[in-house]
Amino acid sequence: MTDNKRRVAIIGGGITGLAAAYHLQQQVERQGLQIEIVIIEASHRFGGYIQTVNENGYQIEKGPDSFTDHKGTIAQLASELGLAEQLVKSRDDRKYVAVNEDLYAVPKGVQFGIPTEITPFMTSDLVSWSGKARATLDFLLPQGKLEGDQSLGIWMRKRLGGEVVENIAEPLLSGIYNGDIDQLSLEAVLPFLPEYKTNSKGLMSSVRAYTRAPDFVNNYLQSFSFLGGLSTLVDALIQQLSDIKLKNGVRVSSIKKMDDQLMLSLNNQSSIKVDGVMIAASHKIAETFFLEKEIFEDLQSMPLNTVATISMIFDVNQISPDFKGTDFYISRNSDVSITSATFMSRKWEHITPKDKELIKVYIGRTGDEAIVELSDRDIEKVVLQDLHKLIGLKGMPEKVIISRHKKSMPQYIVGHTKSVENVKRKLHEHYPTIRLAGNSYDGISLPKCIAQAQISAEELLKEME
Ligand SMILES: Cc1cc2nc3c(=O)[nH]c(=O)nc-3n(C[C@H](O)[C@H](O)[C@H](O)COP(=O)(O)OP(=O)(O)OC[C@H]3O[C@@H](n4cnc5c(N)ncnc54)[C@H](O)[C@@H]3O)c2cc1C
Repeated sequence: MTDNKRRVAIIGGGITGLAAAYHLQQQVERQGLQIEIVIIEASHRFGGYIQTVNENGYQIEKGPDSFTDHKGTIAQLASELGLAEQLVKSRDDRKYVAVNEDLYAVPKGVQFGIPTEITPFMTSDLVSWSGKARATLDFLLPQGKLEGDQSLGIWMRKRLGGEVVENIAEPLLSGIYNGDIDQLSLEAVLPFLPEYKTNSKGLMSSVRAYTRAPDFVNNYLQSFSFLGGLSTLVDALIQQLSDIKLKNGVRVSSIKKMDDQLMLSLNNQSSIKVDGVMIAASHKIAETFFLEKEIFEDLQSMPLNTVATISMIFDVNQISPDFKGTDFYISRNSDVSITSATFMSRKWEHITPKDKELIKVYIGRTGDEAIVELSDRDIEKVVLQDLHKLIGLKGMPEKVIISRHKKSMPQYIVGHTKSVENVKRKLHEHYPTIRLAGNSYDGISLPKCIAQAQISAEELLKEME
């Protein structure tokens, strides 16, 4: 690095760090700024949780496998990177919920775990008649004030009753957050609600109004990936980072002020002086960098759940023809250990040979994280038992890939938005040229991580002007 240039370090080479680097590089070029950028990544591989394995005609995603692109964030990035032609849409079919070991189809129109179409809901077997009658009270109950944050589960129970929450909302939302719905923040999970609530009669009508908006219908109802899997995006970003120094296999251990710069100490006993920093790793990692422990205290109680994905390959004829869907989720009233399963090969026909089924199963959620610590053999046994019980699967898989993701799922608990605001404010007071982005803060999905990376990159450059 030359000494007359200012330097920015990005800590973490997952999708957030890479997207931030790409955006910074673009801005530096466009504005003719004298800034050098370095990404420091602890592992030997870039991409973080994104890890696609393409092997022997199979495509297996060990972490995330698809995205819904509400605001077109990834579509835009893909087009800039020349990947627009490689975007693929999933072929979603019916989703099911297991209640007491029986699978029931999720009624058409359920969004964010909330029914939005009355006829499919009223004719569904997933909720009893008394449960349905209770849910319709939502149209009559006073709207109530939505001031401040509150528990998503408690709010939903008040509006829709316990059965809809237990059999629909909780299993489907757990599929995203793997958490306890009663701890989750209404404000963080359904941020659009206050705006729509004022014009609607109840929770179901509010969600219906929001999910009928054209940008939602066009971008949110479909899942996307890339022909070569999600690692395609990671590889394309890395290829574009021609002006950026990529340092991997080395971990940042602390950040301190040094004169008017920042000193990053690395675990290989070296250090690097920079003018700006983007921390694109979780809050639990970020807090270890600083001596000022008060900066992250508002997020200290935010749990990070541990999950594992188990990808199993079967012959098509091992699967009962009775199960026609693509996904199923598990209600807490069921005596099974898995939390959800997706028939990946039904959603994405290019990822297996035609006569094979690839099923991706999740285990681990609040209160049952110990399961992830079982040996591979025991995990496989538990998963197979559950699949036999639920979908009548026969025999053993041809191949199994288990990926453990420890402390990977941030739980946006009540008060999350305010806590993030406080952490960012305190960090700014101590270190004006450090920014945070990633799944601990303003959204866990891939598009939201990328959007945060772009916003934080802009803010950082502005601060460094
Ligand atoms: C199992 C699983 C499935 C998911 N499925 C989906 C899905 O289908 N769709 C979707 O939209 N989202 C999904 N998500 C969420 C999404 O994948 C994540 O929110 C997103 O990938 C986070 O990216 P990130 O770059 O912020 O963090 P990470 O991917 O965690 O990257 C952070 C990087 O920082 C590095 N690092 C850590 N400490 C240091 C240090 N001290 N110094 C330097 N580097 C460091 C790490 O090695 C890592 O590479 C899923 C998440 C998980 C765990």
